[in-house]
Amino acid sequence: MKSLCENCGKCCLDTEMILSRNDIELIKRESSKSLRGRDFVFKNDNNQLQLKNIEGHCVFFDNNSKCCNIYKYRPQGCRFYPLIYDINEEKCELDKDCPRSNLFYKNKQEFEITCKNLKTFLKIHFKLKIN
Ligand code: SF4
Ligand code: SF4
Repeated sequence: MKSLCENCGKCCLDTEMILSRNDIELIKRESSKSLRGRDFVFKNDNNQLQLKNIEGHCVFFDNNSKCCNIYKYRPQGCRFYPLIYDINEEKCELDKDCPRSNLFYKNKQEFEITCKNLKTFLKIHFKLKIN
């Protein structure tokens, strides 16, 4: 079965993906290279840990194959995407920046369950106060 993301990779360009401590530890542990945090993480202006970009794309993105080099242990936020949580609207939604967003989470139940998991993730790892 073809992946919905095949030959895309748009969300890996100029990524602003925030990382949890668990994401960072998992990547360091699973990577065959001996990666240090500073190789792929930096603190953004909001004091959050964020994935680094290099040459306009995430450090882990292979621009030729349009694939993620750490797909099996990619950050949790990348797994949820294109599902995101809009803090102002206080709801989960599919990010309009994803050109194929209408193909994801078509099943309402799957959407609801993943939204619940996303909110739990944000509450636990980023201390967000959401219902
Ligand atoms: S999630 Fe959307 S933007 Fe990202 S690679 Fe898949 S189709 Fe492209
Ligand atoms: S970790 Fe992988 S999926 Fe996430 S932004 Fe980087 S290349 Fe894309």
